[in-house]
Amino acid sequence: MDKRIRLIVAIIAVAALVGCGRGKPGEIGEPMQPEKPPLPSRTVHVFCYHGVEPETENFYFHRSADFEEQMQTLADEGFESITCKQLADYLGGTEDIPAKSVLLSFDDGNLCVYENACPIMEKYGFKATLFLNTGSMGGETQMSWQHVRDLHSRGYEIGAHTVTHANLTKRAESQSVEEHEASVVKELTESKEQIEQMIGEQVVAVAYPYGNYDEFVMSAVREAGYRLGFSIDRGAVDEQSNPWRLPRQMVVRDNSLRTFKRWLAQEPLHLAGLSPSIGQVVSQTDIEIRARVLDDDVNPSALSVEAGKGTNLSVSEETNEIVITTTLSKGANNVRLQHPGSPSRERSWVIVCRP
Ligand SMILES: [Zn+2]
Repeated sequence: MDKRIRLIVAIIAVAALVGCGRGKPGEIGEPMQPEKPPLPSRTVHVFCYHGVEPETENFYFHRSADFEEQMQTLADEGFESITCKQLADYLGGTEDIPAKSVLLSFDDGNLCVYENACPIMEKYGFKATLFLNTGSMGGETQMSWQHVRDLHSRGYEIGAHTVTHANLTKRAESQSVEEHEASVVKELTESKEQIEQMIGEQVVAVAYPYGNYDEFVMSAVREAGYRLGFSIDRGAVDEQSNPWRLPRQMVVRDNSLRTFKRWLAQEPLHLAGLSPSIGQVVSQTDIEIRARVLDDDVNPSALSVEAGKGTNLSVSEETNEIVITTTLSKGANNVRLQHPGSPSRERSWVIVCRP
């Protein structure tokens, strides 16, 4: 072979090798860029609050002193609050988050959050995401857009909670499937657009009213341009969590500090091969749910289960699958699995029944 041809062949061979490497293709002669290592595994505790008042009759709100005790606990235990954008970047594999992360969120845009919760959170260096119903802003007990813009400029994140606080999995008797789906899309897109107009920034996340979701809702959330959808399912979030149905632990007035600390020590329960799948709409009320437990430290027979009427859990001897039999009610049902152990693991999810 001619010397020059041999040189060209050699160059092509080197170029092919570099190009085929798993790293970024670099110029010949430059060191290859190593591929970014995967992000470390992180457990994120996501909390859902509704309001804080000095004293309160409202079961979903907190007394200021109790809320402050929880913020103090988070600070003492070294937790940092993250935003939905940070969580979306972490789940997308592009940015890491602190090893001890919490995501604090408030639903429904109550004015008492602005007045009482925000000063307490700021005292401990925390920020939250506020999930707003855009159709009820500015009422007597609601934040106005001015409050929202003020909080946004102070570093709070604004998310959507639909326009009218609609139960997205519930189809009215008078609605056709098409009409129902169109109304879900409208609730999701209009609330997102209005918030974006008001704050001049993209909305990353939606919180499902009543925590209810199904397959259509999740696909509509993705289509609308959200990056995350939050339920009020039980359990913590980690890198394996599905971004369209992230669990959030709801905290209510009578939850003790001990319970709050227990949630902070929890890890997710990992399941595979779940049937019916999460968000699947089923037509029969008597159902059998099957899944495999992936966590080595979990003894499937030690799981406790809560679901519909007459719920029973057994473990298949052949496949080691858990088998839950239960009778669902019409509408959204919660199935909840808990494992005591250390760490304790928990997980719940929604199954919608439309007979
Ligand atoms: Zn709500």
